[in-house]
Amino acid sequence: GKGAAMVTAVAHRLAEQHAERQRVLDALRLSREQLLEVKRRMEGEMKKGLARDTHESATVKMLPTYVQSTPDGSERGDFLALDLGGTNFRVLLVRVRSGKRRSVEMHNKIYAIPQEMMQGTGEELFDHIVHCIGDFLEYMGMKGASLPLGFTFSFPCHQTRLGEGILLKWTKGFKATGCEGEDVAVLLKDAIHRTEEFDLDVVAVVNDTVGTMMTCGYEDHLCEVGLIVGTGTNACYMEEMRNVELVEGDEGLMCVNMEWGAFGDCGELDDFCTEFDRAVDECSTNPGKQRFEKMISGMYLGEIVRNVLLDFTAKGLLFRGKLSERLKTRGIFETKFLSQIESDRLALRQVRSILQHLGLISSTCDDSILVKEVCTVVARRAAQLCGAGLAAVVDKIRNNRGLQELSITVGVDGTLYKLHPHFSTVLKETLRDLAPQCTVTLVQSEDGSGKGAALITAVACRLKEGKK
Ligand code: BGC
Ligand code: MG
Repeated sequence: GKGAAMVTAVAHRLAEQHAERQRVLDALRLSREQLLEVKRRMEGEMKKGLARDTHESATVKMLPTYVQSTPDGSERGDFLALDLGGTNFRVLLVRVRSGKRRSVEMHNKIYAIPQEMMQGTGEELFDHIVHCIGDFLEYMGMKGASLPLGFTFSFPCHQTRLGEGILLKWTKGFKATGCEGEDVAVLLKDAIHRTEEFDLDVVAVVNDTVGTMMTCGYEDHLCEVGLIVGTGTNACYMEEMRNVELVEGDEGLMCVNMEWGAFGDCGELDDFCTEFDRAVDECSTNPGKQRFEKMISGMYLGEIVRNVLLDFTAKGLLFRGKLSERLKTRGIFETKFLSQIESDRLALRQVRSILQHLGLISSTCDDSILVKEVCTVVARRAAQLCGAGLAAVVDKIRNNRGLQELSITVGVDGTLYKLHPHFSTVLKETLRDLAPQCTVTLVQSEDGSGKGAALITAVACRLKEGKK
């Protein structure tokens, strides 16, 4: 009868809606074949970045870092370190002891970098940084001290020696003027001289991946890779000098800062990208750049999720088809919400309360299930892509050494990796699958980037002492 026909019609509509949701989500699901292809393309880009002839046009820049040896435990002294480019800006005092009492003691203070500073002039930004150093020295009762300084500067830099870092381009929402193309060690020194209050010797400019690898390598000698999955993403590893064609010499190893976030900037990821990735890219401060990073890191995952939710809502598949102002607001889904929503201990009721906290009030139980599914799919893809990239790295190291099997440790840092309940599990699964000949141990580094910069500075000072 009529009733039955209506039930059928409703069932039909629900099935259609379900199919439409799944069709959208399927575009965000990557097959094993696709992930293998990502790994292969990453391998290709790594080779291009390392070789002198192709470096210019390579998206993955494979930047030499002039870090060639890991700490041997004999370094000591007091060092200052700066950490700029992650979730927080920090100034640190690091006390390194050698011998039997071998240890690293740290004091640090977090400072805010207001949005206006990130996007104002370089002079304002560096004056602010130096102001913070002054404040820190006073806080530590060390006003006027002159210490060697390691600068963790987590952006792509061209280096021709350890103490130099020419900023190639800003990432992660920074866009202070007058910095790109400049040596950030010089920008820092100039700002220090402007205050006339203290002097510091900028010994090392260090990428956060390198700092993380070094910190982890202090304890674990198998650690030859550094990985960051936080606001941005990137990796570094120990490459054979003979393959580092941009630097003279064939002996030994050098740490290479891959800058893998830029993978995809020449279209290498176009066939895996969705309309949501394109929307996130277009609204960013650096459209067309850092395409791999924008599919993986904390600064962007929430935005991908929000764009999917916008699409679902516009199609009447979510929030009863009502587009709220909140949902239209950029940046509402911070990394911590993504991590919370996916936490297994969380009942759906709590997912709902998170959504309500975000101002997405009209949400029903079905809405909560769907939002959670979107978060899962987006984070899973991020972890898999990251795993495919890392698989390329560890297999390259294995091939470099002509080994059948390789055991290696990766030092990892970053808020997304640390806070997300499933990211590391999916990353490890993917690695096992795509690089089966490598046994990879991922070690979370505590305070890796700042401590690492101090250790690198300590090694440089030890070598300098040795030469005297
Ligand atoms: C930067 C890298 C950095 C990574 C993680 C990227 O945006 O280009 O230099 O290592 O973020 O902080
Ligand atoms: Mg950091």
